[in-house]
Amino acid sequence: MRVAIIGSGMVGSSIAYECAKAGAGVTVIDAGRLGGVASAASFAWLNATSKAPKSYYALNALGMRAHLELRRDFGDCPWHRQTGSLEWRTTDEGQAWQRGNVAQMRDWGYGVEWLGKARLAQMEPDIHLAAIGDAPVVYYPEEGWVDPVLYAAWLLRAARERHGAELRPHTEVTQVLTRNNRAVAVLTADGERIEADVIVNASGARSDGDLGVPGLPMTSTPGMLGFTPPVPTTLRSQFHLDDLDVRPDGAGRLMIHKASVDTGLLPGAAVSTDGREAEALLEATRKALPLLQGVRLEAVRSTLRPMPRDGFTCIGAMTHMTGYYVAATHSGVTLAPYLGRALADEIVRDLPHDAIAPFSPDRFFLEQTATSASAELVGVKPVEGPA
Ligand SMILES: Cc1cc2nc3c(=O)[nH]c(=O)nc-3n(C[C@H](O)[C@H](O)[C@H](O)COP(=O)(O)OP(=O)(O)OC[C@H]3O[C@@H](n4cnc5c(N)ncnc54)[C@H](O)[C@@H]3O)c2cc1C
Repeated sequence: MRVAIIGSGMVGSSIAYECAKAGAGVTVIDAGRLGGVASAASFAWLNATSKAPKSYYALNALGMRAHLELRRDFGDCPWHRQTGSLEWRTTDEGQAWQRGNVAQMRDWGYGVEWLGKARLAQMEPDIHLAAIGDAPVVYYPEEGWVDPVLYAAWLLRAARERHGAELRPHTEVTQVLTRNNRAVAVLTADGERIEADVIVNASGARSDGDLGVPGLPMTSTPGMLGFTPPVPTTLRSQFHLDDLDVRPDGAGRLMIHKASVDTGLLPGAAVSTDGREAEALLEATRKALPLLQGVRLEAVRSTLRPMPRDGFTCIGAMTHMTGYYVAATHSGVTLAPYLGRALADEIVRDLPHDAIAPFSPDRFFLEQTATSASAELVGVKPVEGPA
């Protein structure tokens, strides 16, 4: 079986690796360099906390487990850190939300514990306890993060070296060619035709594009990250303070994200290291990490978060089009290794996974949502926070 995959970010590289491992002849085609667009500008927090409804929570928990299971194939995974997350909320409303979320996560079997201030001070002495005040602190020991571009590079390397996949960076797909309602090939911008038995569209925020087959309804929105220069910190766990997210990013650099900054971004608008968005990131972070006094951001990144219209993952076969699959999602860093495995099982081994059934693209194209596997998703907000 020949499988052509459009996109080499977290999602495309995972599908490519798992399809190749399952025995398919895989070609990965990316308009840019390998490793993705959103994936290269992602906070990349691995988590399932606060995700709802239960089917979406469960999908994210499977994603976290699949990251650990990759150790069977790769041994030590240099892209993966599991150093836990800390979270506190400074408003009454936020703390009430947090109590409810802790109870829900415990009920669903997620690792979560309340953490005393003395223990926090031992674990992370760089965090300014006065910035926390009386706010209760939660610790999620199973959470962590990934370096997404390294992840993609390693999985694509293994797909090529161990399983014979072909990698085609800097090759834009302009059309999916069909015959009798069956996807048969992709056409590239320079006119090349790449034949395949199955085509998977993992093009991230561009999943709504017109490739001659139906695009997905997407409402992708911009997100921004700030990066400090190396600073003398021993911070190990990431922390989440109201809508602020901070984590180490290697060599003493810190990565900063703030949801309210994202809300003010216009699609395509440039951000800079000395703009007001950068200042908002630094000002909020300095309250918790005084060691950032006088530090400026060294880099900023901004891109679209791939977001299917209802906010949930969209993965599976496209109805009415044999041999054509889609995989578009937010929280794709958390979900990717599981989505890759599930789609490979379905495509190559003909083994459907129940966990992805609610997330089929059918919900956007068939008028049966209320009775379908996706009914649980209707009217629910998928996630609280950045991921
Ligand atoms: C600021 C921010 C913070 C985030 N935080 C988190 C988080 O904490 N945790 C989490 O799990 N997720 C997070 N996400 C979401 C996560 O990053 C994405 O869900 C994930 O990276 C999507 O991966 P992808 O492979 O689908 O897309 P991408 O990485 O965008 O890859 C798609 C690829 O398709 C290629 N492509 C597109 N069109 C074509 C074409 N026509 N021909 C050939 N190639 C094409 C592109 O060049 C690109 O390389 C965040 C995202 C952002 C932006």
